[in-house]
Amino acid sequence: MKQVLITCDTEVGELARDMDKAFDVFVQGAVAGERVGVPLINRVASQYGGVVTHFVDVYHPHYEREFSKLCETILADGHQIGLHTHPRSRFGKRYMFEYDADKQREIIAWGKEWLLRHVGLDVMVHRAGGYGANDAIYPALRASGIRMDSSFFFRASACHMGYPYINRIASCEDIVEFPVTVYREKRTLFGFKRKDLYRKLDFRYGSDVPTILDVIREAPDKTIFILFLHSFNFLRGCYDVRKEKFTGLSVHRPLIDAYHALLDGISQLEEVCFTDFAHVQVPKTCTEYLAEKETTVSVQEAITQRIRQRIWKKIPF
Ligand SMILES: [Zn+2]
Repeated sequence: MKQVLITCDTEVGELARDMDKAFDVFVQGAVAGERVGVPLINRVASQYGGVVTHFVDVYHPHYEREFSKLCETILADGHQIGLHTHPRSRFGKRYMFEYDADKQREIIAWGKEWLLRHVGLDVMVHRAGGYGANDAIYPALRASGIRMDSSFFFRASACHMGYPYINRIASCEDIVEFPVTVYREKRTLFGFKRKDLYRKLDFRYGSDVPTILDVIREAPDKTIFILFLHSFNFLRGCYDVRKEKFTGLSVHRPLIDAYHALLDGISQLEEVCFTDFAHVQVPKTCTEYLAEKETTVSVQEAITQRIRQRIWKKIPF
């Protein structure tokens, strides 16, 4: 049996942190009288028998009460919570790897304690914001009794972990690492090879539903996959770089349809099931599996992508 974990980074976001109503917009997805964030993500997952693990960034000093209530609702609806470390709002620097080992231990302990005190939850899995961890994360997690991590993202620029695999789940310093699943995209332009990209299973950023379904279908038995969403997955908007504000926010309907299509597609695949971090069956020795997809890039696409990447670097939205 292959297993699929649905994960969602649930956060107000790095640039949205000082925006009015950032929690309502980027976590709840409250736009035009709808709530297309966490409530919709969980409702749709439940409809197809899936459980979502929300990696919740509980560090923001302005939204403690909101996050506390949100966590209670997530658990009451049968979904799960992991700790998501975006420490800047409370500790000053953006990525975990920018802190020394002692400070990392303090940050993890703070989040663990917060979830215990406010939600009564003994959190067991962690993901670093922006995948920005280094190997000091393992002793820091161990000190807090967190035994699972999902921060490793092969070739991600802020990921400084020395994890020796790409997708394979393995124990590292007593912590079980669940890498963000990637596939290799081999690209050609005018018949010439371009640099390979490593894409996560994320139908908003870089991938799409048919490709994700193919990757799961073609993988060998017992492979475990990490699907990737954000709480603001179904919002569409512009970011005004000059004013440093989001404008024109609306609901991204085609992506909601894509989410349904993806979960429906997965639920119809044979020998594939949804699971969660409390129930996932990790084989004694996992094998490494990396799917490869070939794409032909058009010139226009290449230009658009370059521009978009330059902008996305600044905007986590
Ligand atoms: Zn994040």
